[in-house]
Amino acid sequence: MKVVLASSNQGKLTELKTLLAEDGFELVSQDQQGIAPAPEDGLTFIENALAKARHASELSQLPAIADDSGIVVSALDGAPGIHSARYAGPQADDAANNRKLLAALADQPDRRAHYYCAIVFLHSARDPAPLIATGSWSGRIINTPRGDGGFGYDPYFLVPELEVTAAQLPASQKNQLSHRGQAVRAFLEQLRNSK
Ligand code: IMP
Repeated sequence: MKVVLASSNQGKLTELKTLLAEDGFELVSQDQQGIAPAPEDGLTFIENALAKARHASELSQLPAIADDSGIVVSALDGAPGIHSARYAGPQADDAANNRKLLAALADQPDRRAHYYCAIVFLHSARDPAPLIATGSWSGRIINTPRGDGGFGYDPYFLVPELEVTAAQLPASQKNQLSHRGQAVRAFLEQLRNSK
């Protein structure tokens, strides 16, 4: 099935393509369809994912998948949260976002955080019964980066059970554990059950 992916993030596109290819999805990015990103003005990951999927489906006339994800830090009342991609400002890159996160956590002993991912699938822009799946991955924020895999906050996101950061995990192992991997598997199960 040809499905438009409502995301321009290359890291996520690569991860999602791998996870979804097994189930016969041919993912095309909204960039490939000439679709500009939707405004993200929801208060939750789910609201933003729904808005992105609806926008991409409407403009492409294809079924659409969107994910919205980020890192939720306990000591920061859930920040960066839905603003994770642009935590340090509209043009922020990963390095700037991580610098801001570490500064916000300076002298803070509570380092708990979790990645969260919401995935929404719409058969069409007006689909009244979207499939919605979520995943969550708990960890701790460390001060010194480790590893060069993954993207975003991964070098600072320690997986306590393994004592490595998300950036030190091979991509396949990250997919097994991650918020996105969990959400994609939950989503695929819903999709199979809905057929
Ligand atoms: P979105 O494109 O609005 O979903 O923003 C997602 C942002 O959350 C990314 O740009 C990263 O900053 C962060 N993020 C989400 N998932 C991950 C991950 O698996 N590793 C590292 N950072 C992530």
